[in-house]
Amino acid sequence: MTSSLSTTPAAALDQAEIAALRERFPILAREMNGHPLVYLDSGATSQRPTEVLDAERHFATHANAAVHRGAHLLAAEATESFEDARATVAAFIGADERELVWTSGATAALNIIAGAIGNASAGLGGAAAERFGLGPGDEIVVTELEHHANLIPWQQLAARTGATLRHLPVDENGVLSLDAATAVIGDRARILAFAHVSNVTGAIAPVTELVALAQRVGALTVLDACQSVPHLPVDVTELGVDFLVFSGHKMLGPNGIGALWGRRALLDALPPFLTGGSMITIVTLDGAEFLPAPQRFEAGTQPVSQAIALASAVRFLQDVGMDRIHATEAAYGRRLAAGLAAVPGIRLIGPQPGSPRAGLASFDVAGVHAHDVGQFFDDRGIAVRVGHHCAQPLHRRLGLTASTRASSYLYTLESEIEAFLDAAALVGPFFGVGR
Ligand code: PLP
Repeated sequence: MTSSLSTTPAAALDQAEIAALRERFPILAREMNGHPLVYLDSGATSQRPTEVLDAERHFATHANAAVHRGAHLLAAEATESFEDARATVAAFIGADERELVWTSGATAALNIIAGAIGNASAGLGGAAAERFGLGPGDEIVVTELEHHANLIPWQQLAARTGATLRHLPVDENGVLSLDAATAVIGDRARILAFAHVSNVTGAIAPVTELVALAQRVGALTVLDACQSVPHLPVDVTELGVDFLVFSGHKMLGPNGIGALWGRRALLDALPPFLTGGSMITIVTLDGAEFLPAPQRFEAGTQPVSQAIALASAVRFLQDVGMDRIHATEAAYGRRLAAGLAAVPGIRLIGPQPGSPRAGLASFDVAGVHAHDVGQFFDDRGIAVRVGHHCAQPLHRRLGLTASTRASSYLYTLESEIEAFLDAAALVGPFFGVGR
């Protein structure tokens, strides 16, 4: 368990508070297929409150200009808003703003880290970057449960450098074992990349223990925090990782914005991955010198209105309280797990009832394809995610090709969780299985 979760438990939001919060999310008032929308797909993308929608629109309407370039007042104002947004989002994860790089999302952030390490391995970046160089005999370690965004960039890096890709195995429920991790993370490990919270199982990784295993052998740690930063208090100093990534659209923010956080000394020593305008000091026809982080990783025109809207989303989350959001969703996770596990014919994936999990649960209905399960819920206005959730290796390990996932957020009502569970109990009988 991470230390950020080991503080005194906060009070969950009460249902009246959640009902009041929902007023700020116009989309939640919609009906789907003749039923009130029950949105249980926030793990894929979250909904946006009016504050966030207004922040983006206000910037585009009144304050739009190119940042870090123009000599005019409008550009100076836009630059200030953009950098204020960076400070807000960095503070949200306990970071220094010089360590927070804007990206288009978590996928881009992971590709930037892996790509920059690949460039260092190819000899770019000079003496400062030598520490990152990978080659045959070195190992990159991931887990068997990773989202493809935190798997394929490492596969590509291994292919590019000759390093070996290894994985930490999961058990038959898709849960990591620390014993197995201890056996895999050996002296050759140079990078350990893993998800803080699995987007399929909802399991919360033992970050402290995994970081200790990596540090013991001098490996860098990369944390995919896509499913944790939106839902629980995250502090990069407490976690002790070297790099961390997340996406804005999963935390009440817009699409097209995400962040890469890295320790400043590491970011400044890494060569850039994307190159072009806005990230240089001097350019000649033969070469270029680069700005320090974060600009050295922010080539080209940046997603300015999205960054400003993400800062607005962060303020919204802070007003509600991350510890209270986590307490609320942890209770939903427990209820989802217990409710699903009690339904004949349903196999709950991930931590079993009684074990901690985030506010999501995936499951398989024996004899019914996940797409049919999804259709069944949709007919009742309940939006869930079906498929492999960008985690094919995990599904293969579980003996499945697809599963169904219900995921909550701060605007989810207990009555919606119960409506979902009531419907889940009817899936088997509806399709004539599981009796
Ligand atoms: N990692 C995890 C655990 C995710 O859940 C997701 C999105 O589903 C990603 C990475 C990729 O995020 P994005 O598509 O926003 O880049």
